[in-house]
Amino acid sequence: MLTSVYVHFPWCLKKCPYCDFNSYGTARQDVPHAAYADAVLRELEFRSETLAERTLVSVFFGGGTPSLWDPEQLGRVLSAVTSAFGTVSPSLEVTVECNPTSLDRARAAALREAGVNRLSVGVQSLDETRLRFLGRLHDAPLALEALRAARAELPRVSADFMFGMPGQKAPDFVSELERVLETGVDHVSAYALTVESGTQFGELHRKGRLPLATDDDYAETFLAARRCLASHGMRHYEVSNHARPGEEARHNLHYWRGGDYLGLGAGAVGCLADPATLGASRWRSESHPAHYLERSGTKAVQAWTEALSPEDRVREALMLGLRTLEGVSLSRVAQQTGVTLTRGREQALARRTARGEVLLDGDVLRVLPEHWLALDAIVTDLF
Ligand code: SF4
Repeated sequence: MLTSVYVHFPWCLKKCPYCDFNSYGTARQDVPHAAYADAVLRELEFRSETLAERTLVSVFFGGGTPSLWDPEQLGRVLSAVTSAFGTVSPSLEVTVECNPTSLDRARAAALREAGVNRLSVGVQSLDETRLRFLGRLHDAPLALEALRAARAELPRVSADFMFGMPGQKAPDFVSELERVLETGVDHVSAYALTVESGTQFGELHRKGRLPLATDDDYAETFLAARRCLASHGMRHYEVSNHARPGEEARHNLHYWRGGDYLGLGAGAVGCLADPATLGASRWRSESHPAHYLERSGTKAVQAWTEALSPEDRVREALMLGLRTLEGVSLSRVAQQTGVTLTRGREQALARRTARGEVLLDGDVLRVLPEHWLALDAIVTDLF
């Protein structure tokens, strides 16, 4: 069974005002590098029962800011993860999310030596005003320097961007993308700024004090980014992701195809299929680092679990797969869940197909990219 591993690192140098990830601002010297690695290894041991029968296809260190983690400790976790699996794919992808404030050439080299082969750098913007709006600690020159350092040491580098900020027009965003492409990155993620409750931005929005982009600016920027990146040889292979052919994030493709994944670390989510019921079980570990450190390696680390029915898995396959250029394979969904995806959805499919939004092409159901801006409504209709 092909399986991915996600390792969560919960600390950042500062909490960004828009961020609702499980991350905690902390001083660099206060990160418990070795103790956290020990805790993750205890959790790995606790969850290792079926790993000998599985094939590891990707490992993703996300956060938080995992580039803050001492590469030696991150490497210790990576090596234990690969050893725990019966088989490791020869094309194993190992990605680390990085912030420009914790990535220089020496750190990139140390991560490569630890077994990492892909870096995803949180650039977010190359406009100083917007970087300040987002509360980021880096400026544009540092972001570009981090990308060049990453490219000098690792074969595969992604730049993460945000758009949909007040006053941001499509040509502004395109010129930022053009500058980042000069560094030679092979992958760009472009996420729309979303306002989440429980964040500083959420509070400002509630009080009517957070300016945001208009819907028209958002749509124009989304489309202009696609045209710009396509003209540089990148395929828009998922709503928020663009890559040179062959450089797509294998870890994310595995999620979107409904693959099994093991989550390790504070607040990490995992989901493994149950071959007996064709459902799946999903869990999340304790989110707060102090609780995680205390409870890891025991059942008490599990803060939450849920059982997914085969039909729940079909809805997830639609929700995730229709965001991708490759679409949803009906035969794969049937094999994973025992459910015929089209059954019970005939009317919605006919409606959306007649409008030219959805295409059923042999075994594959997909939303054509020109309709991705209306994706939420289409997926809701097919639910
Ligand atoms: S650096 Fe990333 S994970 Fe950390 S607070 Fe900012 S957005 Fe959240």
